[in-house]
Amino acid sequence: MIMQGKKGLIMGLANKFSIAYGIAESLNRQGAGLLFTTQTEYFRNKISDIAADFGCTDVTLCDVAIDGQIEVAFDEILTKVGPIDFVAHSIAFSDKNELTGKYCNTSRANFLNAMNISCYSFTEVCRHAAKLMPNGGSIVTLTYYGSEKVVPNYNVMALAKSALETSVRYLANDLGPGGIRVNAISAGPIKTLAASGVGEFSKILEYDRQRSPMKRNVTQKDIGDACTFLLSDLASGITGEIVHVDCGTNIIGTHF
Ligand code: NAD
Repeated sequence: MIMQGKKGLIMGLANKFSIAYGIAESLNRQGAGLLFTTQTEYFRNKISDIAADFGCTDVTLCDVAIDGQIEVAFDEILTKVGPIDFVAHSIAFSDKNELTGKYCNTSRANFLNAMNISCYSFTEVCRHAAKLMPNGGSIVTLTYYGSEKVVPNYNVMALAKSALETSVRYLANDLGPGGIRVNAISAGPIKTLAASGVGEFSKILEYDRQRSPMKRNVTQKDIGDACTFLLSDLASGITGEIVHVDCGTNIIGTHF
């Protein structure tokens, strides 16, 4: 029960296949109190039963692409529960038509939208979350290996993840003096709603499974438990890191 007595927010739960669901399960197992934000009324209806299973009967609306919504959501949470100890940001978006074929065909509109939702939102979340963490805290976001090496079809999302990883280091530096740690988990591929938008995703899954020293893909539990660790006091000396939770695939070269 390493999270007993702590409470915090999970952003990005869409359904039981979401990485956010694995994070919620793990945090719940370790005794954390959980709050959730969701993008739209449609998603709120879809996840309200799941959130209730984790003890949250009042999911907060927050479309991170809409100016002011992040601030309003954090103000609402402060009013509802007071200060919090952690935030898990598990949000990304690109037009799926641009997650296939060549990166050079990315449109300006989708480039900006993907960057806005998948990268900038994390900066804004950290800024507002910090106000709810007067005694310190821990914030984690989700990234992917496509930021480091070319992964076919990952395209614009790879650039958003590279920028997100750099923002993790700058945010860790900004928020460190307030006792707030900021990290990212670079998760191996896992079949979710967002992932199903990436062209030939099942090939990526299979390629990774074969390449992994452990000869398997990651699970929601692998990622959830690593996230709980980073959000807990057990990780008190870790900040500004990109932690690979991918069954070791990132250590293997592409030719072997
Ligand atoms: P998912 O589809 O279950 O979750 C994505 C979430 O992003 C959804 O809940 C969606 O509502 C939310 N979102 C999108 N636009 C939003 C907006 N404007 N405002 C608020 N929320 C918005 O998919 P997932 O795979 O669990 O994705 C979670 C995170 O994990 C993403 O950052 C993704 O890039 C990352 N990730 C996924 C994989 C994978 O293989 N699935 C691997 C590494 C990293």
